[in-house]
Amino acid sequence: MSGTLIRAITSELSVRAFAIEGKDIVEYARRVHGLSVLSTVALGRALLGTSMMGCLLKTETDSLTLQVRGDGPLGSIVAVSDYLGNVRGYVDNPTLELPPTPQGRLNIGGAVGDGDLIIIKDLSLKEPYIGRIRLQTGEIAEDITQYFAVSEQVPTVCALGVLVDEDLSVKAAGGFMIQLLPYTEDKVIDLIEKNISALPPVTQLLNEGCTPKAILERALCGLEVEILQTDSVDFKCPCGRERMSKALISLGRQELRSIIEEQGGAQLLCHFCNKRYDFSKEELLGLLSEASE
Ligand SMILES: [Zn+2]
Repeated sequence: MSGTLIRAITSELSVRAFAIEGKDIVEYARRVHGLSVLSTVALGRALLGTSMMGCLLKTETDSLTLQVRGDGPLGSIVAVSDYLGNVRGYVDNPTLELPPTPQGRLNIGGAVGDGDLIIIKDLSLKEPYIGRIRLQTGEIAEDITQYFAVSEQVPTVCALGVLVDEDLSVKAAGGFMIQLLPYTEDKVIDLIEKNISALPPVTQLLNEGCTPKAILERALCGLEVEILQTDSVDFKCPCGRERMSKALISLGRQELRSIIEEQGGAQLLCHFCNKRYDFSKEELLGLLSEASE
């Protein structure tokens, strides 16, 4: 059960593009986090966008974190991608529902509220790269577009869509991201603008059975598109007992002792995948020797 992510470039090398089919990824997130319809769409869009942004990373140890920090009732949305586009993520208020907008659409922007979009790129250097912009609409795709325009000066078109079925499972999810590289000819820009404005919503395309490749061919119609890479991508969390042990050890000896005295064992929950890790009193005592005073 995986999604598909493709990377492409046009033959004259002035446009790069990414597209993702991620129904299984968003459905997995929905089930592990117990997401409402609204949260499924909000977190789903963030996961899909982050996955494509992760493709811009260079090496295996790099990661990209997207944080949507709004003041709305949804709280923050956090998603992390590796360099292949495997993602994980969570939302503060997974069960939130809101009335639809006057246009009858899910009110994602209202759920997110005003605030910032923060992109953190951990490139295995001493300091991570951090970019921050004001949220435009809180609808995620427009905010990602704005981020690239302001923080990276890369003109970008981003479209993300999640369609929820009547039984509340994810019916379709995906998106695309098109970026103009320096010196793109005006006629190429005009052509892409024309294509994009004629393109139906991405959820409709996916629901009609369009593959990521077919979506890019429509968005870049009239240009010669070369698919550079096709990857299978998943909701993937690198958490495990070892990482959780390290987190406990990093609390220090005093804090660990008080947990042992007050609670006996410890229960740790991974925010990203909702997996629970239980540590017995004996296990915690074993970690004490590794902790610093
Ligand atoms: Zn996890």
